[in-house]
Formats: sequence, C-alpha cells, structure tokens
Amino acid sequence: MLQQDLHIHTTFSTSDNSVVPEQTVSLVAAVRHAIIVGISDHFECLVNGSFEGYEKEIRQVGLKVGVEVDGHPWVDEATNYNVDYYIFHCRDQNADYRSIDKLLTTGKPVIIAHPNALHTNLNQVPSECLIEINNRYIWRSDWKQYYGPFTNQFKFVIGSDAHQPNWLSQTIAHYAAAQLGIEEHLVF
Ligand SMILES: [Zn+2]
Ligand SMILES: [Zn+2]
Repeated sequence: MLQQDLHIHTTFSTSDNSVVPEQTVSLVAAVRHAIIVGISDHFECLVNGSFEGYEKEIRQVGLKVGVEVDGHPWVDEATNYNVDYYIFHCRDQNADYRSIDKLLTTGKPVIIAHPNALHTNLNQVPSECLIEINNRYIWRSDWKQYYGPFTNQFKFVIGSDAHQPNWLSQTIAHYAAAQLGIEEHLVF
C-alpha cells in the first residue's frame, strides 16, 4: 500500500475527458490504494453548485477533500470553500506566483501541481509550498535537471493524478524521487 495520494480525479471533473465513468469517489475509496487518500477534482467543475455534493460524498467515505485550482483567476473563489488542501496550477507568470500567498494565508497545505509540466519557476515559489512529483507527468521532462537544484529547498509530495482506476499508481514518481534522494512528505 502507498503512503499517500492527494492528487486524484473522479467523475466530478466533468470537463476532463481523460476521466472515465468508472472513476467514482466510491471506487477510489473501495480500492484504498494509499493510507492517506484525498480527492482533488478541478475546482472550475465544482463552482456551479456541485461542490456541496462533492464534499459530502468524499467526507462520507473518510477521504480528504482537495481541489485542483487552475491558476490565479480561481484563487479568490477557491478560498471560500471548505477544502482540506489545494493543488495549484502555477504557470510561469507573475499573477500565478503572487496568488499563491492568498492560498497560503488560509493555513491549508498548498501543493504545486506537476510544476515540470507547467514550466513553473520554482525560484519564485514560496518555500512553504509543497512540490509535487506527479506520476502522470514526471517522466515527460528532464526531471533530474528540473528538480535537482531544489531538493533541499522544499518538501515534496508524490501524486498519481489518476483519472482512471488503473492510474491509481505512483511507480515512476517514486522512482524519480528515489533517484533525486527525495523523501516524501506526509501532509496529514
Ligand atoms: Zn493538473
Ligand atoms: Zn490533476
């Protein structure tokens, strides 16, 4: 069993066509592939009234409630919702770096999502943020060069970014973390 997986999508991510109908909250809870499990659907899919049902369904099965926030335009609204943590898309632009502070002031954990895939400049990211090593994206870049200079500067979390049941895995992310000498930080 894995220690932790806080980056998981379900059928609540209605705009994401990688999600399959079988990827439900109840299936993720039943599989229970990690000790600490959180659901982190796209926040923009939850603002049209479905957040309440989302939160209720996740809490009923005892999982953590997260959301994946797509950059600065969504930050103000995201802070109004009762989540346990944020996963944040930080593109290489000042407005995104600046908006991280608003998320941090909530006191909730802020995980910078697959930064290697979004070309996030980690020099611009506050050290209180947790940096993700994402199983879906880590192998698509020169991850040694990208993460190498920052291994002592941040705490790191490993996420599957599962959109389908068979993606509930972190194999390549754990390999990369081990190669980098990074020990996973457990958030909860
Ligand atoms: Zn993402
Ligand atoms: Zn995601």
